[in-house]
Amino acid sequence: MPFRSFTARLIRSVFLSDQTRHLEFEMQGVPRFDFVAGQWLSFQHRHSDGQEITRAYSIASPPAEGNGFALCLNRVANGFMSNFLCELREGEELSCQGPFGDFILRPPVRDMVFIATGTGIAPFRSMLHWLFGEESRHQGQQFWLVFGSRSETDIYYHQEFLGLAAGHANFHYLPTLSRGSTEWTGRRGYVQDHIAGTLAGRTDLEAYVCGLDKMIKANRDLLESLGWEPKAIRYEKYD
Ligand SMILES: Cc1cc2nc3c(=O)[nH]c(=O)nc-3n(C[C@H](O)[C@H](O)[C@H](O)COP(=O)(O)OP(=O)(O)OC[C@H]3O[C@@H](n4cnc5c(N)ncnc54)[C@H](O)[C@@H]3O)c2cc1C
Repeated sequence: MPFRSFTARLIRSVFLSDQTRHLEFEMQGVPRFDFVAGQWLSFQHRHSDGQEITRAYSIASPPAEGNGFALCLNRVANGFMSNFLCELREGEELSCQGPFGDFILRPPVRDMVFIATGTGIAPFRSMLHWLFGEESRHQGQQFWLVFGSRSETDIYYHQEFLGLAAGHANFHYLPTLSRGSTEWTGRRGYVQDHIAGTLAGRTDLEAYVCGLDKMIKANRDLLESLGWEPKAIRYEKYD
C-alpha cells in the first residue's frame, strides 16, 4: 500500500493509566484511511529549536470503514513527541505519513502467540480486533495473547481483552504482572516466564512480539531455545 502524507485531527484522548493514553484521530480531507493491522504511522512536529522531529507509532485500532484510527501511547520521561501527543487537545491537528511497516499477519492464518509489554500491545489490539471481526478470519485457529504489565493499573484494554476471550473459545488472554498487588490472582513475572508453559512443546505456531528491545531479545532467545524456526518469530522493536 503506498504511503501518503496526512493531517490527523485528535477526536478523543483518554487515560489508560496515569502515563498512558488512548488517542483517537480522524484523517482530514479523505473519506477513507486504509492500512493493514500491525502497521504504523510517522508523526511530525517541530521542536522549539526549529528542528522537525518524527516518531513512529503503531496503529492500535483495526482497519475500518472511514478515516479514523487510534494510538496507544506512553509518556517517555523527557521525551519530545510522546509528551507532545499526550498533551494534544481534542480538535488539534498534526502531520503524519504512512501507513508503514511489514509487522502484519502473514497469510494463511495459523495458530499464533502474540507477546507484548506496555504499549507494545498497540499492533495486537489492531490485529486481534481485525481477526475476531469476522468468523472466517479466525475459525479453526487458536490465538494466545501474553501481555506483560507492571501492575493492575497498567493492563491496557483489559476489559476489552477479557470480553474478547469470553466471547471466543479460541482466544486465550494471559495478562501477567511483574509487580502485581497482593490481590492479583493472575499470572506474575515477565512474559517470557509464561511462554514455554503456554505453548506446551509446540513449535508449529507463529509468534509476534512487540515492545522494547530487551523483552524482544529475551523472547526470541527463548523461542529459539525451544526449537522454533527464526522465521516463525516476527517482531517490532520500539527502541
Ligand atoms: C515502529 C515503531 C512503532 C512504535 N509504536 C509506538 C506505540 O504504539 N506507542 C508508543 O508509546 N511508542 C511507540 N514507539 C516508540 C516511539 O516511536 C518513540 O520512540 C517514543 O514515544 C519516545 O519518543 P519521544 O520523542 O517522546 O522521546 P525521545 O525524545 O526520542 O527520547 C527521550 C529519552 O527516552 C528514551 N526512549 C526513547 N524511546 C523510548 C521508549 N519507547 N521507551 C522508553 N524510553 C525511550 C531515549 O533513549 C531518550 O533517552 C514506536 C517505535 C517504533 C520504532
